[in-house]
Amino acid sequence: MPADKSPEPESDERVVLSFELRREIDQIIGGNHHNYCYQCGACVAQCPAARFSDRFNPRLIMLDLLLGRADKLLAADSPIWLCTNCYSCYERCPQDVRPVEVIIALKNLAGRKGVAPDSVSLLTRNILKTGYSGVVTPVVHKTREKLGLDPLPEPPVDEMLELLDSGSDERDASAGPREEKTRERSHGETPAGNASQRRKK
Ligand code: SF4
Ligand code: SF4
Repeated sequence: MPADKSPEPESDERVVLSFELRREIDQIIGGNHHNYCYQCGACVAQCPAARFSDRFNPRLIMLDLLLGRADKLLAADSPIWLCTNCYSCYERCPQDVRPVEVIIALKNLAGRKGVAPDSVSLLTRNILKTGYSGVVTPVVHKTREKLGLDPLPEPPVDEMLELLDSGSDERDASAGPREEKTRERSHGETPAGNASQRRKK
C-alpha cells in the first residue's frame, strides 16, 4: 500500500477550532460520518486525485473539517473540487467515514453558499435552465443536422426539478432547485428557450 506522503499542516500554523462548519455538514446527508475519522490515511492509498495532485488528500480534508476550517474547504480554490468521485476511499475506510460522500456534502454546501468555482456554478445554472450541463449553441444543432444526426431531445426540465426537489439532501427547509430557479427568474434572468426554440435561432 503506498504511504500517505501528504504534507502535514505547518507546525506553527495557528488554527482556531470551530464547530460551525461541522454542524452545517452534519445537516447534509453523507456529511455527518466525518466525525468518525481517526486519521489513519487508508483513504489516500488508492486515491487517484491524491496520486496526481499534491494539493489533494482526503485525509487532510477530513482533518480540516474536524478542525472546522471553512476558510480552506469553502474557498474558491478548495481542493474538494479535485475529487473524482471514484469511491475508492469509501471502500477502504475502516471507520465508515465515506470520505467521498463527506466531500460531496462539502461541495453542496459550497454551492449553496455561492463559493463554488465559476465553472461549476455555470454547469449548475445550465442544468437548471436547460437540462443540459453544457451550453448547446445553435452551431451544435446545425452541425448535428449536417452530420445527419437526430435533433437533440428536449430534456424534461420540470420533471428533473421535481426529482431534485424530492431528493433534496438537506434535512432542514432550505431552498431546493425549484426555488433556486424561481429566484433566478425573479431576478430577471430568463431561462434559455426549449430545444425546439433554440433550433429555430
Ligand atoms: S477517512 Fe477513513 S480512511 Fe481516511 S483517514 Fe479518516 S478514518 Fe482513515
Ligand atoms: S472519491 Fe475522491 S477522495 Fe475518494 S478516492 Fe476517489 S478521488 Fe480520492
